[in-house]
Amino acid sequence: MAPNFRIDFGSYIPSTQTVKERCTSLKAWELPKQESALAPDYVWTNKDMDPVPPEDQTWTLWTWMAYWATDTINLGTWETASSIIAVGLTWREAIPIMIVGTFCVAVPMVLNGAIGAALHVPFSVIVRSGFGYYFAYFCIISRSILAMFWLGIQGANGAKAMQLMISSIWPSFNNIKDTIGMETQGISTEGMISYFLFWLIQLPLLLIPPTKLRWLFIVKLVAAPITAIATLGWCVHKAGGSGALFNQPVKVHGSEYAYLWLSCMSAVTGSWATLACNIPDFSRYARSSKGQYIQLPFLPIIFTICGVLGIVTTSATQLLWDKEPLWNPLDIIAHWQAYGHSGRAAAFFAATAWYIAQVGTNITANSISAANDLTVLFPRWVNIYRGCIIAAVVGGWVIVPWKILSSATTFLAFMGGYSVFLAPMAGIIASDYWLIKRRQIDVPALYDPYGRYRYFYGINWQAMVAFLFAVGPNLPGLAYSINPVGTHISQGTKNLYTFDWLFGFVVSIFLYTTLHKIFPARESLIEKTIDGVEASMGRKAEAGNASPPLESGDDDEKHVHAHRKQSESYGYANVDPIHRARDVQRQHDTNMPLPKEQQAAVKQGEGHDATAPVQTIPVPQEPGPGQILVKINWTGLCASDKSLLHDEWAPFGVSMRPEAKGIAGHEGAGEVVAVHADVEGLWKLGDRAGVKWVVSVCRECEFCTNGSDELQCAQQLNSGFTAAGTFQEYVLTDGRYATRLPEGVRDEEAGPIMCGGVTAYTACKRSAVKPGQWIVMIGAGGGLGHFGVQYAKAMGMRIIAVDGGAEKRKLCTDLGAEQYIDFAETKDIPGKVMEVTKYGAHGVIVFAAAPQGYQIAPSLLRPGGTVVSVGLPSDPSVVAGAPPILLALKRINIVGSVTGTLKDVEEALDFTARDLVHPILTKGSLGDVDKFCKMMIEGKLPGRAVLRVAG
Ligand SMILES: [Zn+2]
Ligand SMILES: [Zn+2]
Repeated sequence: MAPNFRIDFGSYIPSTQTVKERCTSLKAWELPKQESALAPDYVWTNKDMDPVPPEDQTWTLWTWMAYWATDTINLGTWETASSIIAVGLTWREAIPIMIVGTFCVAVPMVLNGAIGAALHVPFSVIVRSGFGYYFAYFCIISRSILAMFWLGIQGANGAKAMQLMISSIWPSFNNIKDTIGMETQGISTEGMISYFLFWLIQLPLLLIPPTKLRWLFIVKLVAAPITAIATLGWCVHKAGGSGALFNQPVKVHGSEYAYLWLSCMSAVTGSWATLACNIPDFSRYARSSKGQYIQLPFLPIIFTICGVLGIVTTSATQLLWDKEPLWNPLDIIAHWQAYGHSGRAAAFFAATAWYIAQVGTNITANSISAANDLTVLFPRWVNIYRGCIIAAVVGGWVIVPWKILSSATTFLAFMGGYSVFLAPMAGIIASDYWLIKRRQIDVPALYDPYGRYRYFYGINWQAMVAFLFAVGPNLPGLAYSINPVGTHISQGTKNLYTFDWLFGFVVSIFLYTTLHKIFPARESLIEKTIDGVEASMGRKAEAGNASPPLESGDDDEKHVHAHRKQSESYGYANVDPIHRARDVQRQHDTNMPLPKEQQAAVKQGEGHDATAPVQTIPVPQEPGPGQILVKINWTGLCASDKSLLHDEWAPFGVSMRPEAKGIAGHEGAGEVVAVHADVEGLWKLGDRAGVKWVVSVCRECEFCTNGSDELQCAQQLNSGFTAAGTFQEYVLTDGRYATRLPEGVRDEEAGPIMCGGVTAYTACKRSAVKPGQWIVMIGAGGGLGHFGVQYAKAMGMRIIAVDGGAEKRKLCTDLGAEQYIDFAETKDIPGKVMEVTKYGAHGVIVFAAAPQGYQIAPSLLRPGGTVVSVGLPSDPSVVAGAPPILLALKRINIVGSVTGTLKDVEEALDFTARDLVHPILTKGSLGDVDKFCKMMIEGKLPGRAVLRVAG
């Protein structure tokens, strides 16, 4: 065990150079941004926030049992059980109360634990799926405060174990003079020394990475039960029986009895309320998704056993010392010190065991949770390791926990009652995953503020409404429990509060699912999980610095395998990425035969009602002369695809030709699976290839041979228009005009660059704006515009972005625009541009299809400037141009731009390979074509849409 720790901590000790830098610059504290990060480039994530890679998925069934055993055996459980007796119920009630109470919380524990086990991401990331990207922060912040608070309080409680340990060795410690002042400061000198030592020794233990915790579990599992049973044995033996407390009759009756029963049950449930939310912080390390189900029976059993030990021991103590029962086992141990050397030795070991128990619980229930939250709140600066240190300092010292324990009773009551807020969180997370999303989650989108889980400005109003209505009715009860004297509430409200947790959990589930039934948030639904581990491993592999790790081969691993086989036959993609990655490899190695059938989104019907449902069609087995067969992993969905599918250009005589077979799509990226002998010199199996709008040209006409105008070739074929497009798993395309995808560009990014990216890039080139000169982009925050801003920035231009709204402002400035003009707010846009540029901009690109952009564009230019026309208004009367006098006197250029040549595409891809340009993606699957087209029409589709096709 020791060498393990040395390795782990060794890597955290910074070098002298690093220490020097960190003393002088804040930037030196920045955490490295993950190569494999799933988040878009403008969002910072770190390793601990990303899905757990397969090599760190170390938790097995045994780890789970040890986890719960260590989590449950602590002073709190012992006292919770005894307090049931203290309020007037008997052990006959206490046992079913403990079983039912823990079972109530074991259910959400398993439901939410399954999410972590399947997706390998923490609570603070999962919560975005139901609450929305920004509303999730409410949950994350409140949970992190709670976790740090309990970390401190448990420490202050546990300091008594330390005090016993010291005084067992040096009995005079008990008589040390109090120079701090128990009365005023809430702690004595003796208490402070004990607390400080408790905290100090706990600190390195809190820093054990979650993947290595099993060692601590083992120590606690041996020490704690022995001590508990020894304490029990000693008390019962000494007292000659279990005492009158054990045999006392029930003191309350009727409805009072029923509500007392319920409130005791809620106290048991509430003590695990935080974990019911954030259990994914642990289950994310699980190797298989099944191990965590052991919690369901195990938690009630182990809690009840520990509780019964507490009750029996407490009952026996009543006979021993002045008829006053001792609720805290440490008080019993303290009495042992009177029995000479052997008594003190026993007291020392027992106190040490409770110390370990207390620290173990602090790690599992509080420290790691707080650290995970801080990681997500400050990803640039905090990882789990640093988060544990911050939580230990804030919880241990900043909140002054000993003072809260001694004097702040109302605050304690409030924090104790916080399960009122946690119950609906657990309910919404569970129902969102199991009932609404039906276990299909787009993991990369969880990291994207503009992604699928954005809802309304980052807030899912359905979660908000469900949350408020589940919390509201319990608030009077909470107020009453905090201040019973000054608060007057009805008996009914008091009674409701006795089962606050259950109420909040059930009501939130009911409301959240009902609201979704009535107002389905379709854009947040997905047919097939987009797996985060797989995606980040894919990115790593593409970056060329990792190979898929091999399995370690134990029992757990086998059933993962079986489970995966079964699930894949149902078409789930979210199962066990380790094997998936190896399968892809195998396909390369053994050159597996092509499948006979494939999925494709095929156009049905005409006009605006046309759809593109997924159908099974044959796979072309042999490439024709000059052709290659490309397996499409991702394809972009361009606005032109929508126009062709909906026959929007039919009035201009442009409709999808029969050769396209109803299959649209012209932003494909994937790998070559078959090559015609003609082009064997160009392509090998497994090469990565991209398919564009222009799929082939004649290579003979004037335009094809002048070196720059091949896009004007009259013989050209177009993907999804005159040739079957990329909305199918296997596409035949011209090997001489397909694009080779460079290393470092992921398929899902390469797709949208094939049309959207290269269009924006070519427009930047056509503007002829040089580095350091001004360019205005109208519609800069849109699907094309956001590409344009990045290319222009990378090309050294100074950008003035024009678009509407604060959200677009943030996007444009984040991507590199120097100025932002909100057309909704700024009346005089030319005036504003002149103010910034003095004589006007050197170029203007009109990305927006709205006529207004073309009206103002010429007036934004300085003499000799250029307007680039890209956005195409559907109104044929709109003209790009300027009054001749302006055009002549200012020598203005008006140029057009459409997609880009083979060479342009290569250049555009290179910007992404060099990490300068990245599309903002809204991801979906092949079945999402209709949904995304609808969102596009409604203007609700952020960034570029990409669909996962094969792979
Ligand atoms: Zn396009
Ligand atoms: Zn040609």
